[in-house]
Amino acid sequence: AKKMGGNKVVVFSEQLRKANIKRPQLEARLRKAIENELLEVYYQPKMNVKEGTIFGVEALLRWTDDELGVVSPEIFIPIAEETELIQPIWEFVMKTACSQVSIWNRNRPIPLSVGVNFSARQFQEPRKMVTMIEEILANNELRPDCFEIEITESILLNNSREIVQSLRTLKSLGISISIDDFGTGYSSLSYLKDLPIDCLKIDKSFIQNIEEDYENSEIPEAIINLGRSLKLKVIAEGVEKEYQKEFLLSRDCCLMQGYLFSRPLNKSDFEEYLRKQKEA
Ligand code: C2E
Ligand code: CA
Ligand code: CA
Ligand code: CA
Repeated sequence: AKKMGGNKVVVFSEQLRKANIKRPQLEARLRKAIENELLEVYYQPKMNVKEGTIFGVEALLRWTDDELGVVSPEIFIPIAEETELIQPIWEFVMKTACSQVSIWNRNRPIPLSVGVNFSARQFQEPRKMVTMIEEILANNELRPDCFEIEITESILLNNSREIVQSLRTLKSLGISISIDDFGTGYSSLSYLKDLPIDCLKIDKSFIQNIEEDYENSEIPEAIINLGRSLKLKVIAEGVEKEYQKEFLLSRDCCLMQGYLFSRPLNKSDFEEYLRKQKEA
């Protein structure tokens, strides 16, 4: 009943079906959207709830099409991943988010970190990827320790020597690496000891299943304990309800992200959010 993301995709496919848009057309529109800069980066705050502070943001893409309206990344990212389009999209998100956060950080005593979602495609040429990351951070004067890579377990399934090497290089630069949607993948857990992972992001499906009486909290609890044993940070995503927050705090998991704090916001709304946060 809580498959929000799932429903959304159905609704969107329905929207695409009604507009009589077929996959090749959608791909063509996406290509145009990239050329015409119709993609936009939104920012969702990552909170340290114990301290009452924002410690970072996650960059999330939005595509507004003239006819289709807002197309969910759950629809267009998979299309971009199957084509070569994910590369220019990734570069766009990297450059936009890094330059934006670097600007915000000028006025902050403690800088924000920015998390960017990476696709498997980026890891096809890991050395090139590392070089580009270094370049983009340097060009935007963003400290590497303010940059975070969000990857899913599936990328690590194919942990070739080259990928492992690149992750180590990134880590040595001060960049942190988070496992997104943690707990939904199929990989063994052994990689957690072998790879330079910094943080586990508890998938939002697990958080949303937690009920008022803390029913269904076993999996988040297990992930929190696993993270603690391995000395990893743990952040919960998809926190919508006060009692989900309370549960997490009671287990000493104070890093959270979710609609309870804020939806992903565009640049100007996020600036407004930061201003209000400052006043509060
Ligand atoms: P994700 O990386 O797991 O991102 C979290 C998703 O959960 C985002 O959906 C976010 O808006 C949503 N979310 C955050 N808090 C809540 C909450 O409290 N409740 C609910 N129901 N949802 C919440 P979004 O923005 O639609 O993105 C969906 C997915 O698309 C992302 O999942 C990510 O896998 C992919 N994506 C988005 N932007 C990019 C990008 O720049 N590059 C790549 N490769 N993938 C991206
Ligand atoms: Ca993510
Ligand atoms: Ca996630
Ligand atoms: Ca996801």
